[in-house]
Amino acid sequence: MKNYLVRGINKEKTIKVTAIFAPDVVDQARIYHKLSPTATAAMGRTLMGGLIVAAQMKNKGDSLSVHIDGDGPLGKILVTGKNNGEIKGYVANPQVDAPLKANGKLDVSGIVGEHGTMTLVMDLGLKEPYVGKVSLLSGEIADDFAQYFVQSDQVPSAVALGVLVEKDHSVKDAGGYVLQMMPGATEEEVDQVEKAVQDLGQVTDYFKEGKTPEDLVQDLLGGQGEILEKREVSYRCDCSRAKVEDSLLSMGPDQLGEILREDGEAEVACYFCDKTYAFSKEDLEGLLARAKKLND
Ligand SMILES: [Zn+2]
Repeated sequence: MKNYLVRGINKEKTIKVTAIFAPDVVDQARIYHKLSPTATAAMGRTLMGGLIVAAQMKNKGDSLSVHIDGDGPLGKILVTGKNNGEIKGYVANPQVDAPLKANGKLDVSGIVGEHGTMTLVMDLGLKEPYVGKVSLLSGEIADDFAQYFVQSDQVPSAVALGVLVEKDHSVKDAGGYVLQMMPGATEEEVDQVEKAVQDLGQVTDYFKEGKTPEDLVQDLLGGQGEILEKREVSYRCDCSRAKVEDSLLSMGPDQLGEILREDGEAEVACYFCDKTYAFSKEDLEGLLARAKKLND
């Protein structure tokens, strides 16, 4: 099955659900970053949460980044994407792992940390980006997104994000949903949806049964949902030699000159994928000349 998300809404237009199925997105992140099983779950949940939030932005050019700064050994998680279904991520210590919890689940909060912050930065093409920051609720990621929607957007929400890792560490299943109550939701609707969330159980088990994101929306909305949109999602890094050159130029002539004198060449690894960009002595001399001109 392709990796995609769907956005749906109930008949009364009081409850919105976005559901995602994205095992290949998460597995690509695992391969690029050589993630441990627990780090795969932490990164995968953040990537899927980011894809769902990005899908709710209005314009195709809008972009989003999610920063999770927990006090655990995994270190900072950064996920960034546009409102086009493409996302990429970075984590400080990708190989950090933890023993399984007593219930057999991956101990995500054990490596993310239970204290810290989640920050969402949204670039909507305005002068300043919109920045929302909340304290981590549990470090399990889904809870933290839910807390973000409640505190930052004042939207009561239920969030489930799950990643199932095989014995060989590949990603077997990954999916989840964000359910949001709009103003005007009645108590009865809230009760119904709370029951539906409970009946659904673990979201990773849901997709094991061959169900789809559309099924998930309908199960949460009592079969009365309207699917508003479906979009494919992918892990994609848009790095290029030109962008790396720009970042080298931004270091300025002094620092570039120092690299040229001390190392004579440079190799720059992308933060988000497995590409490296090599710069020879001649390349660096060319860049240094350009940097000097820019500084004039
Ligand atoms: Zn890249």
